[in-house]
Amino acid sequence: MDRRRFILSSGLTAALALPTLRAWGMSPDIQAVTADGRDIVLKSDAVRDLAAQLRGNVLLPGDPTYDKARWVWNAQMLTRRPALIVQPRGAADVSAAVQFARASNLLLAVKCGGHSPSGKSTCHRGLLIDLSLLRGVRVDPAQRLARVAGGSLLGDLDREAMAHGLVTTAGTVSHTGVGGLTLGGGFGRVARRFGLSLDNLRSVEIVTASGEILRAAPDENAELFWGTRGGGGNFGVVTGFDFGLHPMQRQVVGGVLMYPLSMARQVMRFYSEYEAAAPDELYLSCAIASNNDFSGRSGIAFLVCHSGSPQAAAAAMRDLRALGKPVLDTVTTMDYVALQRSGDLDEKRAIGSYTKTGFVRRIEPGLIDAMVDGLAEHPERAVHVGFQHVGGAASRIAADATAFPHRSIHATALLTVDWPGDVEPSKHIEWLLKYWGAIVPHTNGFYTNDATEETQKQLDENYLGNLPRLMALKKRYDPTNLFRLNANVRPG
Ligand SMILES: Cc1cc2nc3c(=O)[nH]c(=O)nc-3n(C[C@H](O)[C@H](O)[C@H](O)COP(=O)(O)OP(=O)(O)OC[C@H]3O[C@@H](n4cnc5c(N)ncnc54)[C@H](O)[C@@H]3O)c2cc1C
Repeated sequence: MDRRRFILSSGLTAALALPTLRAWGMSPDIQAVTADGRDIVLKSDAVRDLAAQLRGNVLLPGDPTYDKARWVWNAQMLTRRPALIVQPRGAADVSAAVQFARASNLLLAVKCGGHSPSGKSTCHRGLLIDLSLLRGVRVDPAQRLARVAGGSLLGDLDREAMAHGLVTTAGTVSHTGVGGLTLGGGFGRVARRFGLSLDNLRSVEIVTASGEILRAAPDENAELFWGTRGGGGNFGVVTGFDFGLHPMQRQVVGGVLMYPLSMARQVMRFYSEYEAAAPDELYLSCAIASNNDFSGRSGIAFLVCHSGSPQAAAAAMRDLRALGKPVLDTVTTMDYVALQRSGDLDEKRAIGSYTKTGFVRRIEPGLIDAMVDGLAEHPERAVHVGFQHVGGAASRIAADATAFPHRSIHATALLTVDWPGDVEPSKHIEWLLKYWGAIVPHTNGFYTNDATEETQKQLDENYLGNLPRLMALKKRYDPTNLFRLNANVRPG
């Protein structure tokens, strides 16, 4: 966690904001766009008034930090340029920005980690609320609670919690945002033990479309709390998350066990049986990496995290290693936080990528064939295809207990193609979509956090029986659909 950022005083904030205000001295009004695509002009006086209210920053194109602030994952494909960016330092700043956007019906995006593969956390010519200055985690070990600021990254949470021998479910790449991941789901290495990230939420602080700052929890605004757990950013900007934590040992057994690509079908068949019977302590994803991968090789890999007893972990590894001679075996006893960082990318800005995912209840032989056969004729770029392990505690929750309804899944089927930032993407996307066509009949719904170009109808259907309740909530808290750049729920 960047503690210096978290504790910056308002005095320093004012100093940081000054150059921007000076740059606006002669600046003309700002061309922008409404949520429904109409051109509008924002008066520079109005923007200056907004800036004067904030502890945080307002950035305009041309500001030295504007490009950094608008950065999102998949930057090669997502080149959108907001008309202005607000970097809040607290819920009051968020509230001011939301009210400013609502007053002009301005297109509004909200960004935490910026990992949305389809760019839901950025916008072109609208207002971007960039939560990157709102980072910080405080752990209350006695209450087993982590209080997490709304712009924090997963690595912040893992590191601070594990310093107390505590953990909650987070995703597998530490520079992913807590915000987007938790509000849409949250799969990770301990989800089979402790449920999804959203299942571990105890309460949130949320700024709704009216600009109100509310607490939502089982005992207060309970329906709103229900909706935030799976409804994405549809109901407001979450400025604080309280997560329940669980005791867990720091040392787990983790790493990558990779077999040659020629064993892909055999390994996946074994996997389909083994994962279905695995204990909750074993997280066992299985992925084919081609041309580029976790290690610089091609092959079919188990991605392991065993957080049970050393004896149980050793027995599981004996089973997995009995399949043959691996081309890579990094599985060892290791620090959980280090494992959580092991998939981080050093130069995430230089990569373009395209992903399709779908939920899987059973890994059937036909699905394995489609997965393996589809790899043929790939366009010689980095390809990752396989299954992220779910099930366990995440599937022992009722479909209507939270807004996230997909509880009978065992895995997420995932296809990703990556390419260097300077390569023309269309042939890679076309290839992936053709491949995906053979996988999709074996899936049941999809992970909205990874949704790329789904239609409103597909999004509606994906909320299953929870849709009417979500639409009613949307009508109550965001009747004009101000928060629409997400897996959108229309006001009903
Ligand atoms: C490299 C990589 C690894 C991943 N690994 C996993 C994984 O292991 N498990 C998993 O479950 N998912 C994983 N994902 C998918 C991940 O859940 C989504 O990308 C998610 O959007 C990331 O959250 P973010 O805060 O970075 O997203 P952002 O792009 O910042 O936001 C995504 C959406 O959430 C909204 N939002 C974000 N923060 C807030 C907030 N505080 N209040 C209101 N709305 C908000 C945004 O407006 C936007 O609609 C991964 C994605 C990538 C790119």
